Amino acid sequence: MTPYDFSSLIRLYKRMDAAYDRVADRYNFHCTGCTDNCCTSLFFHHTFIEKAFLVQGFLQMDPIRKQEVRTRATDYVNQTFADGHAGRSLKLMCPLNLRGRCILYPFRPMICRLHGLPHELHPPGRQTIKGPGCDAGQFGTKPYIPFDRTPFYMDLSAREQQFKNQHNLTGRPRLTIAQMLLNPKI
Ligand code: SF4
Repeated sequence: MTPYDFSSLIRLYKRMDAAYDRVADRYNFHCTGCTDNCCTSLFFHHTFIEKAFLVQGFLQMDPIRKQEVRTRATDYVNQTFADGHAGRSLKLMCPLNLRGRCILYPFRPMICRLHGLPHELHPPGRQTIKGPGCDAGQFGTKPYIPFDRTPFYMDLSAREQQFKNQHNLTGRPRLTIAQMLLNPKI
């Protein structure tokens, strides 16, 4: 892949992180590593641009660390997609989580940044979607603090379209982090 300027994606990620932190602070929400660890959730990611950015971070790791991650990613994929399964949630740890920390934190995709808080989403022409937040047990009785994911999704969609146009890509990927790392080509 030819070098790509990820600066607008990085700016978008910064806006996401800032909005998330503002709302999390108002809830006094602190992720303390609950049993519902989001890094063990089966998430699929759907943009080429986020894959390319994650892979860029991965390729900067030292060779030994990269090989460790590849080994974990292979194990993850073998179990999650065994027997031709489309993907089953086995609560396996993401291959990028080492001792409770994401080792590609600055490169992590959108859903890793937005997960956890109660939120709303307004897809054009469809009903509003509301999410209750993660199972950390910190939101149950608290009044909802508005956290609208829509502008972030729309902005990411625009960045993705630009990326696809520039690389003559079509379609929409459906990939776990492990799959992205094992097949880094865009
Ligand atoms: S990329 Fe990082 S934040 Fe996202 S699931 Fe993996 S370890 Fe967790």
